[in-house]
Amino acid sequence: MVEPIFDYQFRLILIGDSTVGKSSLLKYFTDGKFAEVSDPTVGVDFFARLIEVKNGTRIKLQLWDTAGQERFRSITKSYYRNSVGALLVYDICNRTSFNNIPLWMNEAKRHIEPHRPVFALVGCKLDLVRGGGAAQREVPEEEVVAFAQRHGIFHIETSAKTGHNVEQAFTAITQEVYNRIQSGEYKVEEGWDGIKKGFARPSSMDFNLVEAEPAKTSCC
Ligand code: GDP
Ligand code: MG
Repeated sequence: MVEPIFDYQFRLILIGDSTVGKSSLLKYFTDGKFAEVSDPTVGVDFFARLIEVKNGTRIKLQLWDTAGQERFRSITKSYYRNSVGALLVYDICNRTSFNNIPLWMNEAKRHIEPHRPVFALVGCKLDLVRGGGAAQREVPEEEVVAFAQRHGIFHIETSAKTGHNVEQAFTAITQEVYNRIQSGEYKVEEGWDGIKKGFARPSSMDFNLVEAEPAKTSCC
């Protein structure tokens, strides 16, 4: 299969306590499906999907799932170091998973340094508390809003079962990474996989999206 054309590749990591719904979120985002019993594979898995930011620039997302390692908060350091951002994932029905978010955030900050990571705070399993759902909400929305404001990060509540807000969670963090490239804060760097230049379109196809410098052909 021919690699689809994309302008940049961003690498993001999903972190948070085990069973909060990270793998389900990724599965829905990349496959459009929800699996009732997801496989708690040990190790790290990655998923990929192409999306567009607001001006039509095409971004290939490389999304790293931390299957199993998160149990002991012992994610291999290079997964952090080679990420530009992290989705901080908690379960709306699991208070402890939200209480642990600052620990996950600090862990990511520490290892993603010297880069300033982009974060998105993502609550999962919204379907369980909506419309007479069986479970009890343990994380009030007001608290999430306050936390997100304090840290200046995007937040959203999602369901990988219904797909509610799944797309938005990934789109928002991707747009923020792109904005930081536009503002000059982030650059493509040799030896760092957080952001890579992709395959630019030939100018005859779409003049606006062609980068000023020659397109790199080696990627991923
Ligand atoms: P992970 O350990 O963070 O990767 O969590 P998983 O994605 O493996 O999910 C743990 C369990 O929660 C599985 O049984 C999933 O089917 C379930 N689950 C995940 N997301 C949702 C959701 O949005 N709604 C509901 N009802 N269950 C979910
Ligand atoms: Mg998992």
